Amino acid sequence: MIYRIVKYGDPVLETPAEEVKEFGTPELRQLVDDMFETMWSAKGIGLAAPQVALSKRLTVIDPSAGEDPNAKIVLINPVVVREEGLQTGEEGCLSIPGFREQVTRAMNVKVRAQNIEGETFEKEGSELVARAMLHEIDHLNGVLFLSRLSPLKRDLIRRKIRKLQKAGEW
Ligand code: ZN
Repeated sequence: MIYRIVKYGDPVLETPAEEVKEFGTPELRQLVDDMFETMWSAKGIGLAAPQVALSKRLTVIDPSAGEDPNAKIVLINPVVVREEGLQTGEEGCLSIPGFREQVTRAMNVKVRAQNIEGETFEKEGSELVARAMLHEIDHLNGVLFLSRLSPLKRDLIRRKIRKLQKAGEW
């Protein structure tokens, strides 16, 4: 099943998500599969549960965009345990379509999370994977990449989005 991706303006995107407490269930497996399907069909490389209007600390990431099954990452209840270095690069968000901006984030990160079975693991990533993990974990905290921009840039984008909303084009 492909979910509808909610857009900026929906309060679920700016609300910290709730911890996942039930693991290994058919529902959780299905949700993870559906989130990958939804992300691939939208041509994204990361998707967090709040983006499909579910307040759960769960995100899927695939830097290969469906090309490499080994590239799939599922992070449940993730926390960042280490950040090193900096990178600046263009970033977008499926919930803020049409806007891409330069965002500075850590170059290398280590994340601790649970898998579908509830087992804790650590995952390291750099460059694009680090950027994706940090962007998605931000989503679970109700934080959008707009918050990582300068106030000037952020206000400009918000104004443009408000115009689109008024025109019924958002
Ligand atoms: Zn996003």
